[in-house]
Amino acid sequence: MYEKFQSFLQNELSSIREQGLYKDERIIITPQSAIIKTDANKEVLNFCANNYLGLADSKILIDAAKKAMDERGYGMSSVRFICGTQDLHKELEKRISQFFKTEDTILYAACFDANGGVFEPLLTEQDAIISDSLNHASIIDGVRLCKAQRFRYQNADMNDLEKQLNDAKDCRFKLIVTDGVFSMDGNVAPLDKIYALAQKYDAMVMVDESHSAGVVGKTGRGTTEQYNLQGKIEILTGTLGKAFGGAVGGFTTGKKEIIELLRQRSRPYLFSNSIPPMIAAAGIAMFDLIDKTNTLQDTLHQNTEYFVQKMKSAGFDIKPTQSAICAVMLYDAKLSQEFASLLQEEGIYVTGFYYPVVPKGQARIRVQVSAAHKKEHLDKCVEAFTKIGKKLGVLKG
Ligand SMILES: *Cc1c(COP(=O)(O)O)cnc(C)c1O
Repeated sequence: MYEKFQSFLQNELSSIREQGLYKDERIIITPQSAIIKTDANKEVLNFCANNYLGLADSKILIDAAKKAMDERGYGMSSVRFICGTQDLHKELEKRISQFFKTEDTILYAACFDANGGVFEPLLTEQDAIISDSLNHASIIDGVRLCKAQRFRYQNADMNDLEKQLNDAKDCRFKLIVTDGVFSMDGNVAPLDKIYALAQKYDAMVMVDESHSAGVVGKTGRGTTEQYNLQGKIEILTGTLGKAFGGAVGGFTTGKKEIIELLRQRSRPYLFSNSIPPMIAAAGIAMFDLIDKTNTLQDTLHQNTEYFVQKMKSAGFDIKPTQSAICAVMLYDAKLSQEFASLLQEEGIYVTGFYYPVVPKGQARIRVQVSAAHKKEHLDKCVEAFTKIGKKLGVLKG
């Protein structure tokens, strides 16, 4: 039997390769950081991690994790409701609620699970989910697991959202769902306008803060801080795997009855292991750090502004960004691939994105800025972009 299936798989794989969609993995042999070393033993500057606050190799977080491992062991070997909850898990949940000014929080193994487990326990076929067309795959999958009626609006298009809310008006409960930051453009969801429409049409709002938590807003508390809506949004989801240390773990935070029901019915919570004590402890240490001072958030904002300004002065076309994601527009798919690989030769790690990940004719290189970048790293990156830009005729001169 396997032989037939094997040749089917081999065909699929070659077709992925032929379309230029095959994903190769890059091997790093150092901790995640601004400067990394690859298995070719080459040092490169890293501009494609979600390590926004530069905490992935933080000594403070590593020490907290080590201490917890000594004191509370390696793993929990249990789901939360049987015997998988330590005081550390409860403390981390409390700290997340304090950070976002929400009522309660539930932890998951990943934000993929938080999004996978949030819709089905809360909504039925009588209800409506109105989802942004560019929402993350985990939201799309979570919505699929739920019987609610589905409505989709064009990315951040408030006229279309209003139209969909109108179409959904006879449903019992309505939930608008959006990413906080859209990871291809770096734009922030217009939460003020979404919230106003939600009020007008008697809907609730859910925001996935994965790329915005720690990044957006003056103190990095995400889109609700940016738009002065703290405590007003019913559901937020997020990850500990990006700005918040970069290890692993996800959460849903918001209205307390919602969180209480998720603890009873959310399947990725009920049927999957607890996060290890060291992750919970490092998460608490992370909030200790970013609650106390705003240095990392300020550095990230300054770095991003500096980089965008320098790239614009160099003549590059950068999508307007309100996050730490900078899309350097090249429009042509082949050009973006060539540009990215020449940058790698210059020791700059970035990712080129082209159709089908972004619309046709919208190819780009995505640069992710971090608080871990020093000015000279940012300068080197702009220099390399400029050199390759001239070589490939993107820049004049
Ligand atoms: C990264 C990301 C996730 C997944 O987070 P994990 O914790 O790595 O599973 C979910 N939603 C959005 C918007 C993301 O960017």
